[in-house]
Amino acid sequence: MLDAIQTATSAERNAVPASLDALVIGTGVAGLYELHQLREMGLKVHACDTASDVGGTWYWNRYPGAKFDSEAYIYQYLFDEKLYAGWTWSERFPGQPEIERWMHYIADTLDLRRDISFSTKITKATFNENTGRWTVETDQGDVIDTQFLIGCTGMLSAPLTDRFPGQSSFKGQIVHTGRYPKGGLDLEGKRVAVIGTGATGIQVIQTIAPVVDKLTVFVRTPQYVLPMKNPKYGPDEAHWYKGRFDELKTNIPHTFTGFEYDFQHTWAELSPAERRAILEEIHADGSLKLWLASFAEMFFDEAVSEEISEFVREKMRARLKDPRLIDILVPKKGDYGFGTHRVPLETQYLEAYLRDNVEAVSVRDNPITEVVPEGVKLADGTVYEVDTIIMAVGFDAGSGALARIDITGRDDLKLAEEWRKDIRTTLGLMKYGFPNLFMTGAPLAPSAALCNMTTCLQQQTEWIARCIGDMRASGNDLIEPTEAGEEEWVRHHDETANATLIAKTNSWYTGSNVPGKPRRVLSYTGGVGTYRAKCDAVAEEGYPMFAMSKVAAPQTA
Ligand code: NAP
Repeated sequence: MLDAIQTATSAERNAVPASLDALVIGTGVAGLYELHQLREMGLKVHACDTASDVGGTWYWNRYPGAKFDSEAYIYQYLFDEKLYAGWTWSERFPGQPEIERWMHYIADTLDLRRDISFSTKITKATFNENTGRWTVETDQGDVIDTQFLIGCTGMLSAPLTDRFPGQSSFKGQIVHTGRYPKGGLDLEGKRVAVIGTGATGIQVIQTIAPVVDKLTVFVRTPQYVLPMKNPKYGPDEAHWYKGRFDELKTNIPHTFTGFEYDFQHTWAELSPAERRAILEEIHADGSLKLWLASFAEMFFDEAVSEEISEFVREKMRARLKDPRLIDILVPKKGDYGFGTHRVPLETQYLEAYLRDNVEAVSVRDNPITEVVPEGVKLADGTVYEVDTIIMAVGFDAGSGALARIDITGRDDLKLAEEWRKDIRTTLGLMKYGFPNLFMTGAPLAPSAALCNMTTCLQQQTEWIARCIGDMRASGNDLIEPTEAGEEEWVRHHDETANATLIAKTNSWYTGSNVPGKPRRVLSYTGGVGTYRAKCDAVAEEGYPMFAMSKVAAPQTA
């Protein structure tokens, strides 16, 4: 398996201080901002990242065609107008190289690199009940003593790399999209297999179809897709969005999904013709608006869900025309509803299958059984011979990244074991049994599903910084959710999630893409604005879901 990590070792690593107030794991959107905030508060804080540079998701996911499908001007930090205005985007939905450059701009402008150790993987963290501090180990031999440990490890950062038996026997190149090599792969003239048609696979397929000699796409569950409109941005557009900073800062944090738009129509109040006209208009916008700002009823009401699903299916069928392709690529009535899985935006994705060099192979009833030296083998014995296999097969979402670190909390509780039994958190920000361990992009917070990640991650990191500040101001050293507090949040989360049709579907949203993973809707579905208000209320009321305490002999850095 090829791995971007191969190019990620750095001889010029910043040393990790042996003693800290706070250690941040990860330097993506959340980690960079958490580091900045805690440093501004005067804490001795440092961040470590396995990668050789900043970026998180936008470091690792450098596969062909990787790009935003949130509008660039809202996938932004909104705490500093100068920082916002200092970067200019080239298009509405830019690609990974530009996004990665933006993340470098953030790190450099805020002068964050001096407090980051790259090529440094956190392998182990153990809570010491005597000192009330964490002992953290890295793959570089560092041992760090820290009061707070903050996992900014990403919702979708634990790639499912070992998906099929026999992968290591493959004689060509095999790569997971979340570990795509720096410098890319030469796919020109090659026979390439893509496995998976989620948001990632779709971007890969539409991008490499014109380049490769032969593309074989293995499709299991057909995917609802929406066409993207991606105009180039020049000085006029930059002037337009930069001039809206105050408006965006005021509105975005409080919408249902952290986008600039919100649900604005009520299904029951409109005639069929009016509904159709609205769907057509929003569909033509070329954004995620049809999913995140049309009719909220689609998430709760089977009949509304079916009508909107059929609207999208009709659009897809009209583009594909070929009945065989329609059968493989268009969801069927009763499969699952539009928007209950992540909806990808695409550009000529369906048209890629109309090319002579592209073949769609349904593996729904004839699954992939193994990878053999020549290629991909299906249950009926057919072998598709290829030179390169691109696995766009997804991630162990939410819990995966932290569970892959050996984390031991109070009373020898192992985080991975706890989450193997039941995925629970308090507000998605802390876990009972793990004092002073904060997390972002974690289960039971709004994250990736129905959420503009940057909006959510800013709110979560700001809450953590505020909580640490409040705790210190109150003279306490430790904070941990109470058992009752965690139960209260889990119950509320489940009630909210189980009222939606999302809870009934199978995808990473419910953890069903990972065999044996306890089933639960991973992201909070009560709305980004509502979640923010709830978190703020908890802080303002003195953290009633949490217990704060002092340690007998507090040790500070
Ligand atoms: P994903 O949504 O989990 O999709 C994985 C794909 O692999 C699915 O089509 C799945 O089929 C298929 N698959 C998995 N195991 C398989 C097997 N054994 N045989 C055949 N097919 C198999 O993963 P993803 O596409 O990487 O996307 C993950 C998330 O990343 C997205 O939902 C989105 O939130 C985020 N993302 C964001 C962007 C962006 O913002 N621009 C871009 C890409 C991704 P089944 O559905 O049948 O399991």
